[in-house]
Amino acid sequence: MAAVQLKNIVKHYEQTPVVHGIDLDIADGEFVVLVGPSGCGKSTLMRMVAGLEEITAGDFYIGGQRANDLPAQQRNIAMVFQSYALYPHLTVYENIAFGPKLRREPETSYRPRIEAAAKMLNLVPYLDRLPKALSGGQRQRVAMGRAVVREPALFLFDEPLSNLDAKLRVQMRAEIKSLHQRLKNTVMYVTHDQIEAMTMGDRIVVMNAGRIEQVGKPLDLYDRPANLFVASFIGSPGMNLIAGILSMEEGQPCLRTANNLRIPVPVSSARQGQAITLGIRPEHVVARPSGIASISTDVSTSVSMSIDSIEPTGAETYFYGNLDGILNEHTCCLASRERLSVRTGEKLPLHFPIELCHLFDSQTGLRLN
Ligand code: ADP
Repeated sequence: MAAVQLKNIVKHYEQTPVVHGIDLDIADGEFVVLVGPSGCGKSTLMRMVAGLEEITAGDFYIGGQRANDLPAQQRNIAMVFQSYALYPHLTVYENIAFGPKLRREPETSYRPRIEAAAKMLNLVPYLDRLPKALSGGQRQRVAMGRAVVREPALFLFDEPLSNLDAKLRVQMRAEIKSLHQRLKNTVMYVTHDQIEAMTMGDRIVVMNAGRIEQVGKPLDLYDRPANLFVASFIGSPGMNLIAGILSMEEGQPCLRTANNLRIPVPVSSARQGQAITLGIRPEHVVARPSGIASISTDVSTSVSMSIDSIEPTGAETYFYGNLDGILNEHTCCLASRERLSVRTGEKLPLHFPIELCHLFDSQTGLRLN
């Protein structure tokens, strides 16, 4: 077990900076997910932690010890990659035993660990099989078994589920989480998939272009994104974002769009005329059935969406379209658990409950409410 600290970690490849000063404290036993778009530096950060890549500047501590210059094999870290890298000519048992055998541990010492890992990972019936006779999920579990028998202080997972089909991914997600609950080990887990991040992490680190945008518990990031990047990255379908300027209408702060659409906004610290962006999650947009004239707001707002496409998922239906008066630049999404009887081409009046709206400074991207 080990706590991990990253202090102002920087990475340059040749002269090109790719990681720009990362500060992060991970508690002993914590499951932390690094998430961000491809190329934002997640793998580079993990490789520096693993000792596979030199740290250009900054300090890295594991279990309270500075480990910048510690060779990879002395860091007591196990890594599971996207490609399982199993030896095709070795059985499951031999694959899992490979590390201890290489270190010349006697079999009497490592066999019980392998048996325990195989039991935990449901691999007991497959110990004598070759990897080619296993499914993708089983191979991934063998790769995890190999990591588990090392009894490492820290587990690193780098996109371990990317090669699996959707159903298996959901299953393995749950397995990795339950493995963590049993072993109570420290985990750093990299993914570009925000659903994976939301469902697995005790905390999520959202990265973008070599920097941390926000660190927090999954629902805190979802409910109060600190900036436009996190707002648009976390959540699927993504948060609706509508740009305009702040204007006071009959004492009520409103977002006024280029086409004079007015939407009341929650605001504490913005100035009149400031460029602002309103955000609202698809499930918070309310469809106003036609016939009910208005839902009381201080300012009369009439936003309606011309529906372009309808996607029923079963539990929810997504309605996509353009908001009137906002030309074609914005597609809005409404997620509804009700099976509304509207069709593509029709207009749907919408209401944005003010208490569920997010507000951002369009220039800095920072949250305003
Ligand atoms: P992620 O894992 O988030 O997709 P990476 O850490 O792989 O991102 O890459 C971060 C940036 O560093 C990218 O711009 C990538 O092109 C660059 N990069 C990664 N590895 C190398 C390398 N060995 N040499 C030069 N540039 C690299």
